[in-house]
Order: sequence, then structure tokens, then C-alpha cells
Amino acid sequence: MLPEHADVVIVGGGSCGCVLAARLSDDPARTVLLLEEGAAFGSPSAVPREIRDVATLPVGPESPWVTHYPGRLTAAVDATVTRGRVLGGSGAVNGAYFVRARPEDFRHWPAAWSYAEVLPSFREIENDIDFTGELHGESGPIPVGRVARERMHPVSRAFTDAADTAGFVPVADLNAPGPEGVGPVPLNVRGGVRTSPLLAHLLPVLHRPNLTVGGGTRVDRIVVSNGRAVGVEITGADGPRRISSGRVIVSAGAVQSPRLLMLSGIGPVGELRRLGIEPVLDLPGVGHGYSDHPEALIPYRFRPEVPAHSVLLEVALHTENLELRPYTTAFGSVIPGSGVADPVLGVVLTRPRSRGRIVFDERDPAAAPLLDYRYLTDPADREALDEGVRLAADLLAGMDDVVEAGSVEVGRSRLGTSLHLSGTCRMGDDDRAVVDEWCGVRGIEGLNIVDTSVFPRVPSRGPHATAVMLAHRVALLGDAL
Ligand SMILES: Cc1cc2nc3c(=O)[nH]c(=O)nc-3n(C[C@H](O)[C@H](O)[C@H](O)COP(=O)(O)OP(=O)(O)OC[C@H]3O[C@@H](n4cnc5c(N)ncnc54)[C@H](O)[C@@H]3O)c2cc1C
Repeated sequence: MLPEHADVVIVGGGSCGCVLAARLSDDPARTVLLLEEGAAFGSPSAVPREIRDVATLPVGPESPWVTHYPGRLTAAVDATVTRGRVLGGSGAVNGAYFVRARPEDFRHWPAAWSYAEVLPSFREIENDIDFTGELHGESGPIPVGRVARERMHPVSRAFTDAADTAGFVPVADLNAPGPEGVGPVPLNVRGGVRTSPLLAHLLPVLHRPNLTVGGGTRVDRIVVSNGRAVGVEITGADGPRRISSGRVIVSAGAVQSPRLLMLSGIGPVGELRRLGIEPVLDLPGVGHGYSDHPEALIPYRFRPEVPAHSVLLEVALHTENLELRPYTTAFGSVIPGSGVADPVLGVVLTRPRSRGRIVFDERDPAAAPLLDYRYLTDPADREALDEGVRLAADLLAGMDDVVEAGSVEVGRSRLGTSLHLSGTCRMGDDDRAVVDEWCGVRGIEGLNIVDTSVFPRVPSRGPHATAVMLAHRVALLGDAL
């Protein structure tokens, strides 16, 4: 039974929503209501096997745990873009690669988010199994570990050796600042279980009387009165209703957070009018100028004796603007129904310049929007990605222990996305910024956005660890939000 009122309503029980709900309900005097559109679970044992098991990515066409959006990567390449829609969100279904943003990434953030300021939160969220010392936490909820070389898949070892031979620096800890190079990826996995904020933060505190989680509950609109967010309109099992609150925190993810703002009349005023939505506040940056990582996938075949494996990615190579990912398994084996039969080597552009926008349907603004990535519109991006593909082909040529002779098909590489969407409601103090440095929506009291939408730009690594850090740090503000 959902309450009529909560001190804080959190919209979206994904990676950030789970962290916020757990931390804000640490104070028994504060009532917290977490609303999640997808299914919810009342205990760890109720979480389905495919969400726990890191050997599966339950994001295929039949998955009940995700939403698929239409995406246009370039004028010539379309894609289906997946986001989690389940308690735990995208973090509950992701690749479990838990790597921090680099110190230089935070130069694009407001000063309150310098690397020195965020490091304590990166430490507090983790329990690093391999490293201790001033860079690492030992008692946080998220276990972070790396696969030891002797347990690695032959592809991971062969790739590391090829990168070594090509002169790249070995890096034991990719979560430490320092030179770029090749090394084992940090994973939020314990005993084969994808240990996301759902399992690590939220489920252990579900018994709290001041915390309510409403699964199967969609927030349709934020209610704003006299410049202040005062509640939400929802559709749940009992139909539509309104819940009042002292504060609304939107953590609906990088697609749905800007969409919910738009449906609530907060966004570019011309666009709102065109969509037939009564404007509440003109914020031109909503849904505009986002970034994500373009990823070229080079198909090849394993030699017949190479075994199948369970952790999709064990090592990565970083250069100034690229990440090379030797996936250990064909996507078709871990993503039911994905249809990708060959193994691939991923070439990721980590600091893209091109920016995308979310396009709403003029006939039905409540329908799934189109994600218009505009990848590679900046010629420098295309050049850098092409260079990355050449580097990858060279490395694959040195991996003949595992790669079947003649099977690397650079010409059949296809452009994809790493699903690291960021910056659809970005943080800052310029005209296009949507939230201030503490994630408050500019121009509206009592309303925050806390998820990867607010990243000023996509970090040069996977965003998950940085998203968890963001939510952890914002929650420290508590009533001062
Ligand atoms: C398949 C996949 C693999 C990935 N792999 C990696 C990886 O290995 N490493 C990495 O760093 N990053 C990875 N990512 C990205 C990373 O998981 C996400 O960036 C991160 O989890 C986003 O967290 P979030 O809190 O911003 O949003 P989400 O976790 O997406 O949470 C948003 C939640 O809000 C809910 N919601 C939306 N609208 C409403 C509404 N109106 N009412 C109520 N609820 C609503 C959604 O159902 C969802 O549960 C991956 C992403 C995907 C999709």
C-alpha cells in the first residue's frame, strides 16, 4: 500500500535510485518512497536467476526486465537501445564492469566534483577485494574484484600479451589514476553474482518502516506549484493517483528523466508548445547535447579449441581516447535472442565530441522517444574510431593462439553503442545546464535529478561506478539538498 505523502519521493529504482533510497532512509525521521515502473522484489531470494547471474545479460528482445528504444546512431545506422526497467534498473542487467571515471573527466564537472572531492565517495561505495590503501575502500557495499591472469579466458590472456608486445603499459588497477594501458577490468561481482546497488544497497534495508518501495508504479508527471515540486502523479495497480512530497528526486535514467520533465512542462519552451504541452519552465537543455560511447564491433572466430566463458569482459586496453574490449564470449551466448553469433572485439571511442538529442513524437509525446545519437558527426570522432579499428586489427593479428586464421573481418565491423547514455539533463551553470552542481533543477525548488542524465559528458570509462558515486555523494546532503 503506497502512502499519501512521503518526505522524499524517488522516481526510478535503478542504480542511483537504489543508492538514494538506502542512504536517505538511514535517518529514521525521514520517510522515503521509491517508485519503480518495472517489477520489484522483496528479498534477495526473490531476485530472478538471470538478474543475479553475471553469465547472463538479460537484455534480449524477449526480456521482461528492459525497455527497448529506437535509436539512430548515424544517418545510415539504426540501433535498438536498451535500458533496465526493473528494480535495480540498468545496473541490474548490465555487464558488471565497475570502473571509475578518470581524474581528467571531472575537469568538465563543477568544482564541487573535483577528483579530490569525489574520491572519498568512490572509496565508501566499494569493498575492493584486490587493493587497499588510500585509493580504495574495504567496507563499502559493492564488492569490486578482477579476474586473476591464471583464471582468465585464453582470449583475455592473448589480448594482454599482444598489447604488451605492442608496447602498451600493463596496469594492475584500472581504478587508480595513472598511465593508460592494458589490465584486468574491475567487476562488481561476488561468487558469480552481479552485485549491483539493488542487492548491495537496497534489499538489505527493505525492512525499514520509513522506506516504502512501490514496484509496477509509473510516475506520469511531477506536480509543480508556485515554483516548487510538491508531489507526483502515478499510475499503479490501483490506477492513477497523486502522492504529495516534500521533495521529488528523479532517478528515472538518461532517457526517462528528461522525458518526465518534458511531460511535466519543463524543457525547451518551443518544443513543449509544438508537442502540445503547457510550459511550466523553459529549460532549453532538457534532452539536448547528450553523449555516449560509439563502439565498433569487429567480428572474428575463435579457434575450435577455445572454450566458452562466463564473464563477458575481463581485460581492457586504454589509450588517450580509446578503449579496446576483447569480449570473451559471443553476445549471442550471454544475451538470449541477440542473434550475434561471432565473438567480437569492441573498439570504443571514450572521449567523443559528437552530441545527440532525444526526439519526442509530435503525435504522442508520451510514446517512446527516438534517440538521435549523431555519432561521428565530428570528423575527429570518425578518424579516431577508424584508427582504433586499425589498432584492434593489428592486435588481433598477434593473437593467433586463439583467433582462427583469416577470420578477422574488419570490413564487416559494425557501429554500435556501449549504452552509456549521459548528459541528457546536464549539470552546470550555463544556459543549457538543467541542474545545478548539487543536482537541483534550476528554477524549481524541491526537485532534483540524480542519475547519469546529469553527467556533464559521458565519462571516459563505463558510467556505472560514477553513477553510484554520484548518488552516494548527493545523499550525504540529506535535508540540505
Ligand atoms: C545492457 C547494459 C549493459 C551495461 N553495461 C555496463 C557496464 O558493464 N559497466 C558500466 O559502467 N555501465 C554499463 N551500463 C550502463 C550503466 O548500467 C548505466 O549507466 C547505469 O546503470 C544507469 O543508472 P541510472 O540510475 O542513471 O539509471 P537506471 O539504472 O537505468 O534506472 C532508471 C530506473 O528508472 C525506472 N523508471 C524510468 N521511468 C520511470 C517512471 N516514469 N516511473 C517510475 N520508474 C521509472 C526504470 O524502470 C529504471 O529502473 C550498461 C547499460 C546497459 C543497458
